[in-house]
Amino acid sequence: MEKSTFTQFELKAFLLEAIEHIGFQKPTEIQARIIPIIKKGESVIGQSQTGTGKTHAYLLPVLDRINPQKEQVQAVITAPTRELASQIFEELNKLISFCPEQEQITAKLFIGGTDKLRAIEKLKSQPHVVVGTPGRINDLIKEQALFVHTGTMLVVDEADLMLDMGFIFDVDQIAARMAQELQMLVFSATIPEKLKPFLKKYLENPTFTAVAPRQVAAEKIEHLLIPLRHRDKIELVYEISKQFNPYLALIFTNTKVIADEVADRLLEKGLKVGRIHGDLTPRERKKMMKQIKDLEYQFIVATDLASRGIDIEGVSHVINYELPSDLAFYIHRVGRTARAGFSGTAATIYEARDRHALDKLEKMGIDFKHVDIRNGEWIDLGVRDKRKERKKQLDEPEIIAHKVIKKPKTVKPGYKKKRQQLIEQFVRREKRKMKKRSK
Ligand code: ADP
Ligand code: MG
Repeated sequence: MEKSTFTQFELKAFLLEAIEHIGFQKPTEIQARIIPIIKKGESVIGQSQTGTGKTHAYLLPVLDRINPQKEQVQAVITAPTRELASQIFEELNKLISFCPEQEQITAKLFIGGTDKLRAIEKLKSQPHVVVGTPGRINDLIKEQALFVHTGTMLVVDEADLMLDMGFIFDVDQIAARMAQELQMLVFSATIPEKLKPFLKKYLENPTFTAVAPRQVAAEKIEHLLIPLRHRDKIELVYEISKQFNPYLALIFTNTKVIADEVADRLLEKGLKVGRIHGDLTPRERKKMMKQIKDLEYQFIVATDLASRGIDIEGVSHVINYELPSDLAFYIHRVGRTARAGFSGTAATIYEARDRHALDKLEKMGIDFKHVDIRNGEWIDLGVRDKRKERKKQLDEPEIIAHKVIKKPKTVKPGYKKKRQQLIEQFVRREKRKMKKRSK
């Protein structure tokens, strides 16, 4: 049988050594498919969901293609947020720390919110690889401090988010100043229609490598759905938090204001809570990332944009304070747990008005378990019924029937049968009510 290992790519020896040191046993699907393409010098669009190893899918072949003897910029790696760029830079440094001395590859990080003069100072010698946010990189090019015309490889990571955040213009300008023969490496969890003009402009005949969204990681996520039922929402988040007692949980909110409110209340209640959102100063963010790494928190309250793409290790649970307005973010959020093959749990608080969004998510293949917490225990609420929900808007909700279960995970045995019984029971009851009403 053919063995799928990193040696099959015939990468430089130091890269294989680095991978062995990092501990990757075998390439992920996107890595297996994309590394050979990039090695050949071809442009590529790599699409796969969060947590499937896109970073190394480009870092390894890009570094493989660097000629350390030429002291000029050869590759530019762009990412939409400072954290993400920093994280890529960190991964890259791990790899190049294995370079033999005579063939040292140099890399530099340029992100917004840092001292620009210091950045210009850093550019007295040009690095082989530039990593950073598009705005700052573009700035440094305009200042004539950074020379990218020699660069033949451009990575656009989290391209859909680049677009959402309005950075595509900067990326476009960077691309325009790079070498004529430009190898474009675009990575994204989704390829929205709006991104296509940009892709068409720079990628003549790109290889389009999409990995089907049915990943091992995603299948290992348990999706819990918890009705708000007119309770205090933060109180409910607290209940869920206690119930999970997670190794590390990410709590998502849609806005910074709510993120702060949730974080403050949970802190008051004595939980160890950190936060990631756009209002933090670069210094605060950096400190936060370090504290997260040092496991100082059990909970991190985050907004989508600020947290997107950041690889926080060991996230065991995700709690959605509310559904994201863009449902694609649901996938991104829950993708933060169950990374690289670990299993994880995601809990989403919902209200009656979320019904259509939930229907859509279910259509996308998400298999929710409808549960609640009663007296410190998970209870199974059976199927989320649409009619029931409509009724709920009118009067006080009631639990149709429930069975006490220890953990959501133990729902499985006999679960379907019980669920069926509950449905039947419910239907009978509804029918009786209808009859009464029509009398
Ligand atoms: P993506 O960019 O697709 O969201 P990342 O590149 O951030 O994913 O990788 C997600 C996690 O998987 C990281 O913790 C990374 O170290 C790990 N990882 C990447 N490649 C492998 C591999 N071949 N084997 C095991 N773990 C891997
Ligand atoms: Mg990524």
